[in-house]
Amino acid sequence: MRKYSKVIVIAASYAALALTALNIALRIPAYTNVIMGCFAVAAVISITILVFFAINFERERARKERENISQIMQSINAMAILWDADFRYVEVNSCLTNAIGYTSQDLSDIKTLKKVLPADAFAPSLQAVVNNRDEEFYVTAKGGAKVCTIWNTSIVSVTTVRKRTRYLMLSIGLDLSESIKMKEDLIKYSKELAESETRYSLSMELSEIGLLLKASGNSSYYVSQQLRNMLGINSEYISEGVLRARFHPADVMTFDTLGNAMVNCAAQDEESVRAVHFTEFRLLSADNTYHWYQFRYKITPNQSKILADIGGAILDITKDKEKDSLIEKMAYIDDVTQIYNRNKFMQIGQETFECSRDSAINYWVIVLDIDNFHIINDTCGYTNGNKLLNEFGKVVQDALTSGGFGARIGGDNFALLIRDNGDENLPVNIIRRIQDQFKIICADSFSSQGMTCSAGYCKMSDGGEDFAKVLDHAEFSLSMSDGTKNDIIRYDNAVHDKIIKSAAIENELVKAIDNHELTLYYQPKIHLGNGTLIGMEALIRWVRPDGTVVPPSEFIPVAESSLLITKISDFVLYEACRQNKMWQDMGLPPITVSINLTAVDFYQTDVKESIIRALDATGLDPQWLDVELTESLALKDIDHAIQQMQEIRDLGVKLSMDDFGTGYSSLSYIQVLPITLLKLDRSFIMYLEEDEISREIVSAVIRIAKSKKIETIAEGIETIGQADILKEAGCDHAQGYFYGKPMPKDKFEEFMKIKARESVSANS
Ligand code: C2E
Ligand code: MG
Ligand code: MG
Repeated sequence: MRKYSKVIVIAASYAALALTALNIALRIPAYTNVIMGCFAVAAVISITILVFFAINFERERARKERENISQIMQSINAMAILWDADFRYVEVNSCLTNAIGYTSQDLSDIKTLKKVLPADAFAPSLQAVVNNRDEEFYVTAKGGAKVCTIWNTSIVSVTTVRKRTRYLMLSIGLDLSESIKMKEDLIKYSKELAESETRYSLSMELSEIGLLLKASGNSSYYVSQQLRNMLGINSEYISEGVLRARFHPADVMTFDTLGNAMVNCAAQDEESVRAVHFTEFRLLSADNTYHWYQFRYKITPNQSKILADIGGAILDITKDKEKDSLIEKMAYIDDVTQIYNRNKFMQIGQETFECSRDSAINYWVIVLDIDNFHIINDTCGYTNGNKLLNEFGKVVQDALTSGGFGARIGGDNFALLIRDNGDENLPVNIIRRIQDQFKIICADSFSSQGMTCSAGYCKMSDGGEDFAKVLDHAEFSLSMSDGTKNDIIRYDNAVHDKIIKSAAIENELVKAIDNHELTLYYQPKIHLGNGTLIGMEALIRWVRPDGTVVPPSEFIPVAESSLLITKISDFVLYEACRQNKMWQDMGLPPITVSINLTAVDFYQTDVKESIIRALDATGLDPQWLDVELTESLALKDIDHAIQQMQEIRDLGVKLSMDDFGTGYSSLSYIQVLPITLLKLDRSFIMYLEEDEISREIVSAVIRIAKSKKIETIAEGIETIGQADILKEAGCDHAQGYFYGKPMPKDKFEEFMKIKARESVSANS
């Protein structure tokens, strides 16, 4: 106000002077002068007051405006400087002071401000401000640190006070340090990402791994580029339906299982949700064939815990599968028949056994044996023998129409595993079908009417702690076949009792040996040409205290499995030699005594030593001892057999091949085994009169044996017809009920005496 009082005084003085001059010039009366003077003074005062208020209003407006701007400045999240053009007024906000460490008071001092802002910031052309350009520069924080900032300045207030226009500029600045770092990080990250993406897609491409992902609720799967290449599809997404249609029909269930797993996932415990799962399936692929794929995946329940996401890596494993199937083929496929072998049968059987144990589903196990298979092998050769096995394999496979599993489990033995359908006749019906079919094949391809096969079978639930036992039962039933053609025997209580019985026999046999209940019977061997007695076979009998005689078939197998056989064999060897020597010493014509040895004797003991001991102890000349060995025994370990046999032969003891023709392969072995006599099995002789093939075989065998300087003997001759045929075929010797049954030593002694007398009278 004081400022304005001067103005008023000066204005009033000028007004008074003007009035005085006007009075003098116009000679205006004095009172009029007084009145006018008063008006003039009043006018001057009013104008002065008006000017005063106008100026004040303008200032107040400017102040309020600044205050508003100030408030805005403080509230914004950016650095701000409010300044006038000549930097006489500077206000900063807390965001700036916080960023650079100076107080707002420090910064209102132009010297400090100059330290903070770069020099060119102080000469901003008004034009630049008007152009509203962004300017980027560093501000210097307290302590010297540079902060990168970007500023935008605009004129926020224009006031004109007493003709002077005043601009207020507001500079808004942003701290770029963070965003620069972010930018740098971003560049670095995207570079790394690009690199890792390249690496990732390269590794995916090289390792040929595809990705398959599906988010819960989506009906389409995301298919990675690699998988698209593998499957030959273009689209990045494939619908469930289209993907399912690409699955191999046999693997569609796997696809559906995945779907179920996703639905059930929420119900699973944490651990199984975290687990990585595997599955394998075939998918129609780019080359329009089915490839095998392995899918390693995880299923994660989504938030709703009702549905789940699924995702995983897919790898083409076709080549591995091919290798696997080759390995599987080598390990599990039988070469001759191209069906599964025993190993596979045991494996599948055991798995089935374990599954069926806790379920109501039952299975049948059938074991088949081609009766007298050796006939084809011997008469038609191995190639045809194998051809027959191959044909039989097909018959077995064809029998599995209602599902099941077939295998060749050894030699001419085949086995089937069939699911029970509640019909107790099912196995017999299947066996009959196989027998009929086999007959047709033999007639068509091998011109043989006589080929048959026998079977033993059992139900899986009929006992046994594992599948091997179940198969044992079926095989045991088969072994009970008495050689009847097309025999079918079920493992039942009778068979079971037999197994139990063998355990009991074993116990009793131990006592029987100690109680000397074992004795030898002798069966004559006759020269077919002149009917003379040339030898005898010592056949063991177990005569119980009550007089009942137990045949060897009942206790020899038991003795073999319990190793009691070595005790028995020692007894037989000694007793046969002793008895023979005794009869020779009695003056009876010397003949050969044959004894039977088993595989256990042959492989687990030193047979040669036992023989030497027996001969030494009894004084029998080795030439009167003959050891009968079976063909299957010799084939167990052919090299060992040849060596052992040769050692026996070197002692001067004879060697016979017993039951010749019952094994899988035969004729070729007589060429390498050092045997002196071939015993044609009873099964050949049995059908000799009515079966042309048997006749042909017998003739062929005799011919071959002769060519090898091996004598032949036919066992089981019961009729004169058989004897005549054999005689004609050139067989050297004969053994059978027709000539004499096995008899106790006293009876046989009588028989020997009769034969001796006959021979004397024939010669005289
Ligand atoms: P194998 O060595 O082949 O003996 C011949 C078997 O055929 C004897 O049965 C004999 O009685 C029987 N046999 C002989 N001729 C005829 C015939 O015309 N018709 C019929 N139906 N059968 C005939 P066996 O004595 O019951 O002996 C059976 C098997 O037991 C023998 O077969 C042999 O493998 C074994 N065996 C017998 N004694 C001994 C022994 O001391 N030690 C060993 N390890 N095994 C023996
Ligand atoms: Mg024998
Ligand atoms: Mg025999």
